[in-house]
Amino acid sequence: MNKLAQLDHQFIWHPFTQMRDWLKREPVVIVAGKGAVLHDIRGREYLDANSSIWTNLHGHNHPKINAAIQRQLKKVAHSSALGLANEPAALLAEKLIQAANAGIHDSRVTIHESSVKPPRKSQIANRKLTKVFFSDDGSTALEVALKLAYEFTRRARSAGVSPASRAKVQPHFLSLEGAYHGDTVGAVSLGHLDLFHKSYSGLLFKTDKVMSPYCYRCPFNRAKPERADAREYRKCNWECAGLVEKKFATQGRKGNPYAAFVFEPLIQGAAGMIPQPRGWLRRVTEIARNHDALLIADEVMTGFGRTGFSHSTFNSSARRSGAETAQPSTFLFACHHESVQPDFLCLAKGLTGGYLPMAATLTTQKVFDAFLGEYDEFKTFFHGHSYTANQLGAAAALASLEILQDKQSICARQNLEKNLHDELQTLWSLPNVGDIRRVGLIAGVELVRDWRTREPFDLRERAGIRVCEAMARRGVLTRPIGNVIVLMPPYCTTPKQVWRMVRAVFDSIREVFGRR
Ligand code: PMP
Repeated sequence: MNKLAQLDHQFIWHPFTQMRDWLKREPVVIVAGKGAVLHDIRGREYLDANSSIWTNLHGHNHPKINAAIQRQLKKVAHSSALGLANEPAALLAEKLIQAANAGIHDSRVTIHESSVKPPRKSQIANRKLTKVFFSDDGSTALEVALKLAYEFTRRARSAGVSPASRAKVQPHFLSLEGAYHGDTVGAVSLGHLDLFHKSYSGLLFKTDKVMSPYCYRCPFNRAKPERADAREYRKCNWECAGLVEKKFATQGRKGNPYAAFVFEPLIQGAAGMIPQPRGWLRRVTEIARNHDALLIADEVMTGFGRTGFSHSTFNSSARRSGAETAQPSTFLFACHHESVQPDFLCLAKGLTGGYLPMAATLTTQKVFDAFLGEYDEFKTFFHGHSYTANQLGAAAALASLEILQDKQSICARQNLEKNLHDELQTLWSLPNVGDIRRVGLIAGVELVRDWRTREPFDLRERAGIRVCEAMARRGVLTRPIGNVIVLMPPYCTTPKQVWRMVRAVFDSIREVFGRR
């Protein structure tokens, strides 16, 4: 075993990893990267098929991001945001606010569900995102939103009531089944993934959960399995949205309406790459609004172009119904696909193009104003981190945003989305592939015993892990979520590399489960 692998084994405890398994074999030690390729210490090459856990956008070693960091490094690497402003963070905040508000006014937004009405102008104006609170990673972005929403609601509901009633004001949160919003205690409290969260229940505060639209395994979907994304052939009456309405109404009757609804828009990641049928997001966020709940959108995974172009572009059922948009629209944020403007937009992962840990929580003027006051009123938001608004991270993020908005990058993303869609179709011929679900540049392939029955593998069988290990032997790196194989390539991935990634999934499934 090489020296670095030995040191790793001796000293490092890896995240989300059974260390007994880890210590059984020599780890892949990455020493370099270029574009979609990672190189290890033994000179082997791997395709980074999940963009280094959903972080990398434009590929490794991107000349423009490298240059931006180097330029900033010559000036200053970091100074505190507690008491000081800085150049790249100020410029970045402006750009993020522009990007976050832009898509919402895009007249090309095409939503074909007749029940999904365009938002009223006044509704949008009131929701304009105007302020950015920087932090370090996805979990802290959510912690910030959580604390701000809690305190904003507590103050709003305490105004003008007796001290006794004020003490009883206890803002309550609603999130989705299978939700994952990070690993800090607040973010875990919002989560509903038993495997990760149950052991810590004694440490957490209580939040409620509501059904998320997992069409492939939805008890309300009466359709037999087909060789297509379950969203396309589902037969239901939007019972999932009905349950959201019911949940809000029940909580309202208790006299303590939900303070906020927390969700990943368009697709839930760690829950198992669970995409939402078109129109779901608009429906449920309108329900939440009607019940006066704030909207907290977790775009830690979905942000910065990941969800691609207008939903219908490569969607065969939409094509069948003639609903395809003539000119596909690109959106930087998933919420914009359905003209949803949240009160909190949580960003991390891709913010710096996958270079440095940095996060941002964007919010409205109304929330900001609730924390204004004389010093001795102590309305200050007492929260912050040592590296908040770090200059190197902000410089990388500015460069990444510029690349994202470049015509060439938009074109590359459009081609990548089409290639990924086309290549994935080859997997339907495998009986162990139950569902292939893709939203933009994010894809999940759910493995089952037999597609006709949808029978899942027991987690202990490590079906997803075995397939990913076989893929790694073929030079393609990704991590499964249970029985779901994730493909989320960097935006610079070439058609040939996409072919290699999907071919590796195909061959590895056949290797693990045999040819049938
Ligand atoms: N929210 C979502 C949707 C995520 O996917 C993740 C991480 N996978 C997080 C929050 C937490 O982000 P981080 O790991 O950067 O704390």
